[in-house]
Amino acid sequence: MIVDETIRGEIRKRLSGECLFDEPAARHTSIGVGGKIDLLLFPRDAQELREVVGFLREREIPFLPVGNWTNLIVLDGGYRGALVSLARLRSLSLRDDGHNGVRLLAEAGCPLSELVSLSAREALAGMEFCAGIPGSVGGAVRMNAGAYGGEIKEIVESVIVLDASGATRADAREELRFAYRNLDLPAETIIIGAAFRLWRDDGEKIAGRIREIVAMRKEKHPLEFRNAGSIFKNPRNCPAGRLIEEAGLKGTRIGDAQVSAKHGNFIVNRGQATAEEIVRLIVVIRQRVFENSGHNLEPEVKIIGE
Ligand SMILES: Cc1cc2nc3c(=O)[nH]c(=O)nc-3n(C[C@H](O)[C@H](O)[C@H](O)COP(=O)(O)OP(=O)(O)OC[C@H]3O[C@@H](n4cnc5c(N)ncnc54)[C@H](O)[C@@H]3O)c2cc1C
Repeated sequence: MIVDETIRGEIRKRLSGECLFDEPAARHTSIGVGGKIDLLLFPRDAQELREVVGFLREREIPFLPVGNWTNLIVLDGGYRGALVSLARLRSLSLRDDGHNGVRLLAEAGCPLSELVSLSAREALAGMEFCAGIPGSVGGAVRMNAGAYGGEIKEIVESVIVLDASGATRADAREELRFAYRNLDLPAETIIIGAAFRLWRDDGEKIAGRIREIVAMRKEKHPLEFRNAGSIFKNPRNCPAGRLIEEAGLKGTRIGDAQVSAKHGNFIVNRGQATAEEIVRLIVVIRQRVFENSGHNLEPEVKIIGE
């Protein structure tokens, strides 16, 4: 489907939020690569999201939801179709259940950092492991983000989705198929928001855990360069970073894409890296790690486009 002037006009009519045409993905991906996206849409609320997604379906325009772009590599040829950003859906509220538990309700576009700050301010435990993960609520639920012994699935109570038929529904945790760095969702399902179950605890203890995690991240992760977080999933009982280091790959560079010298499971953009260089480096890493250890590393980052 070619996104022509008529389609652009129709989209503009349905969207009071921003819409960008032929927008370079490199301006948005945390690793700073990616070609032009035909349509980048920012619906203002859930109603606009429903309308615009309905239109995309009707016209058979391929689309994907995006959050903070921190786990995403868009290829240099760009994306044919629409990327629908949830960034404007960011309401956040707390509901006390009268006991020790509190429900945190967040729209998909809320940055995890806001949830972490709010829960620290309110002395609510459960979110500390998210400190320093730069994703949005939608991306974190979709990826079942995790770190330092915690995972999103452990604190999710329910997830609100817009399904492929255009209906909105809330799925309770027991109905959701979470796995390591994945929530198995039917194609074309968009997460609109989620409810998290937190509990009251000592505020100082919570703040201390958050400080500790942020300090460990600063020490271990190459935050001085643009990156997309962990490139590969960790095989069972064996960190991918260690396997990459043992294969002698730290510091390996293709163009401006480099295996971080600080952490083997990060590829950093040393300036003008292209998606092609990153993908070539991913291929080299997989091959060398397989030769060295027999492990078949699976990418954690999502690679989209052409
Ligand atoms: C410095 C750094 C550190 C990181 N540390 C960690 C870490 O410790 N642990 C960890 O798990 N991850 C980590 N990440 C990766 C990333 O931040 C997480 O996976 C995060 O949850 C992705 O959220 P996002 O909003 O950026 O998603 P995006 O990158 O925008 O999207 C990721 C995937 O989710 C889908 N998606 C996004 N929003 C929605 C939605 N509303 N509905 C349905 N699907 C959606 C997208 O289509 C895509 O497939 C790190 C990344 C960086 C750059």
